[in-house]
Amino acid sequence: MADPRRDRAIISRISSWFATSARSLPWRDAPPGERDPYRALVAELMLQQTQVARVIERFGTFVERFPTAADLARADERDVLALWSGLGYYRRAKALHASAKSITDDHDGEFPTDPKAIRALPGVGRYTAGAVASIALGQPEPIVDGNVTRVMLRLDLPEHAAPDAETPLCERDPSDRPVQNWAWSRAGDLATRAHDLQGREPDEVPGGVGGVNEGLMELGATVCTVRSPACARCPVSSLCRAKRAGRQGEVPRPKAGVARVPLFCASVLVRREDGRLLVERRGDEGMWAGLLQAPTLERDDRPPGEGELRDALGVDRLSRVDTFDHTTTHRAVRFDVWTGGPGDGPRRGAWMTREEVEGGALSSAQRRILLRTQAGQPSLF
Ligand code: SF4
Repeated sequence: MADPRRDRAIISRISSWFATSARSLPWRDAPPGERDPYRALVAELMLQQTQVARVIERFGTFVERFPTAADLARADERDVLALWSGLGYYRRAKALHASAKSITDDHDGEFPTDPKAIRALPGVGRYTAGAVASIALGQPEPIVDGNVTRVMLRLDLPEHAAPDAETPLCERDPSDRPVQNWAWSRAGDLATRAHDLQGREPDEVPGGVGGVNEGLMELGATVCTVRSPACARCPVSSLCRAKRAGRQGEVPRPKAGVARVPLFCASVLVRREDGRLLVERRGDEGMWAGLLQAPTLERDDRPPGEGELRDALGVDRLSRVDTFDHTTTHRAVRFDVWTGGPGDGPRRGAWMTREEVEGGALSSAQRRILLRTQAGQPSLF
């Protein structure tokens, strides 16, 4: 059973710490509970599986170009993907675009305030809905991500076992379902208590539920980190059970390794006499859907060879110039980069200028290949 007095102290200290110590980020342009939910949705979708530094680079340009859901709903999908370029996981950009259309068509252009309606937007899951509802709109909804799970496991050190096994929750992989069920339930308790406390003693909960939720995430990202929790500057150190037991370094248990399926890609850089490069657009399904790339062959079992490239693409004078590894959530991709001549006329792709390629939607791997963005790589343009 949670101790209400301890929870009140956790809520108060985390929200007060967040109000004074949070990093200044472009999407934190107002206190929690007073933000534009559309901008909050853009930020949350960009931040999924993408580093904060990269989102900082892209967020301002995106919301400047599409300041409202209505602006985004009217946009051509290629423009949306182009502005998402470099953030990866382009399915999120398509979901955001579809969400903007749903807000326009199904909600008369008003961002929905009911958490269930937010969650019904395309591509919006439990975490994103909770984040927008609590951080932008101040609703008593929980959010749980890896950072929040880690902070709460250390704070509470839940020693009880899940029904399906004897291992205590604090010793299990944090992504296990029983641990996640516990984390969502615990975060839900804190959100409800924070909302109630804000109604009675608003000064004790700066930023309300959003301040607590964002504070938990911030604490996990900057203080209670995976490898070296900085307990000396943690606002809840005197309430932390893992610290008291000297176990903050061993909780949570490291996640089991993710097995990625191999994929071999061979991309060919072909330059015409006027300086244009040969570029093709990927299909609408699967990985990197709809993005631009140098003509590329893919195989699951081995790298595509020179003869296959020549036959499939209709190019000649092939020479391999680079090889690098790239990982996605599910795949370990080995890229071979070739240069080649146009032969009697390539069978795939269209000729594009550097400006057209730079302005198009590219995965980070193809940005490296087409624009040769790595140090020491001569550009073909
Ligand atoms: Fe994390 Fe240490 Fe704070 Fe506990 S005291 S929540 S382990 S930083």
